[in-house]
Amino acid sequence: MKNTFFNLNEYEKMLKEQGLSACASAESTVSRITELEKKVHAFGHFEPEEIKKRAELLDGTDKNGCLWGLPVAIKDNICIKDGLTTCASRILKGFRPPYNATVIEKLNSEGALLLGGANMDEFAFGSSCETSYYGPTRNPWDLERIPGGSSGGSVSAVSSGEVVAALGSDTGGSIRQPASLCGVVGMKPSYGRVSRYGLLAFASSLDQIGPITRNIADCARLLEVISGYDEKDSTSVNEKVPVFSDFLDQDIKGLKIGIPKEYFLEGIDPIVKEKVWDAVNMLKTAGAEIVEISLPHTKYAVSTYYIIGPAEASSNLARYDGVHYGFRSDKFNDLIDMYMQTRTDGFGEEAKRRILLGTYSLSSGYYDAYYLKAQKVRTLISQDFHEAFEKCDCIVTPTSPTTAFKIGERMDDPLHMYLSDVFTIPANLAGLPAVSIPCGQDDDKLPIGLQLMAPMFREDLLIKTASCFENISEFSKLTPGLV
Ligand code: GLN
Repeated sequence: MKNTFFNLNEYEKMLKEQGLSACASAESTVSRITELEKKVHAFGHFEPEEIKKRAELLDGTDKNGCLWGLPVAIKDNICIKDGLTTCASRILKGFRPPYNATVIEKLNSEGALLLGGANMDEFAFGSSCETSYYGPTRNPWDLERIPGGSSGGSVSAVSSGEVVAALGSDTGGSIRQPASLCGVVGMKPSYGRVSRYGLLAFASSLDQIGPITRNIADCARLLEVISGYDEKDSTSVNEKVPVFSDFLDQDIKGLKIGIPKEYFLEGIDPIVKEKVWDAVNMLKTAGAEIVEISLPHTKYAVSTYYIIGPAEASSNLARYDGVHYGFRSDKFNDLIDMYMQTRTDGFGEEAKRRILLGTYSLSSGYYDAYYLKAQKVRTLISQDFHEAFEKCDCIVTPTSPTTAFKIGERMDDPLHMYLSDVFTIPANLAGLPAVSIPCGQDDDKLPIGLQLMAPMFREDLLIKTASCFENISEFSKLTPGLV
């Protein structure tokens, strides 16, 4: 068996038709990954022995789960019991969590074959997957380019066909932006829809785990598995989980799609604009009604995010002190010096920048001017959406203002890097569900993504609209040549 670009249905069918065991699935996945890793480097660390052990356990089960034997890559910030989980950071070197994240328990109970260690920006700080301790991941569509970030490894693994699906995390766009840049589907569910228990925290009020897949049907299936109330996460919401697959292949006649006028202004590649408008027109032809809406506070979203995100991160990262987890520097004189040396040597440059930014805006004297103010603006941004959704059912925008850029191109220009998420950050600040789906290619054949946003807990609307678009376009069938 040789993996190609299988979606979940195709892979499942092949396993059944050929009567393959989980061990056979693991073996072919490992050999495919070993081959492709030379090009894409989608995994920061990769433990074939662990994967084989998991497959053997699966072969001892009744094979009933809806993900039985299907290879799913897991971002390196989601805890897999006894599996290396390092957030692509030196400071978590060798860390093996003694427990499973809730999403991992859920995937296990459906029989998924888990592959941990998908590469990422260190602690999920980044939009290019270049700040990883393990070195950069590459975009399968052009190996000289970044795959996007921070879930660049998960996305590259799906896009290159190494695995069938993956989990990532999204704090400001980390699932959607790389999905857009690599031509796959990536969804950030509503805040509270998916348990964050066992996700190593970046910014607790923004983080969500979500699926990365080849098409929207797979996204719906994975979302069904990982969603649901969890008493171990106090921000998890006890909201009924619909059968998301029921919303595939439906008519969108009369569905009102909002186009925010503020999202198509300067800074966006003309080709991205063109392809997104083409997509809007296709949705219109399929029966949707297009309405112009306004999200006037969007222009403050990036600055708001870069106060709130780093503030929460600086506090979440305080626990990495050389005592509890992973790495400890061996050159120190006393306890305080040990903390300092460990954090100096253990964190990369971007992580230090975030800790400094966050500590500054939380410090007394600056708290009111920055953190408190940012929280107020966050409320205004949420209110904009609230008003917009009185006029439309869902909102369409580009996912990323540009296609994939070259490795190294923005590393010395953090501000330029931060602007990669200008269209994705608002959904995190407002807690809304949003998905990126492929909607075209630029002149170099690099993928372009369309973002759909919906009101809280209305992932069904995203699935319905995305599925309709997928049925009238061919973009999610495109695959990279991997040269
Ligand atoms: N690129 C954004 C950042 O660097 C978003 C990251 C994310 O969603 N984890 O903060």
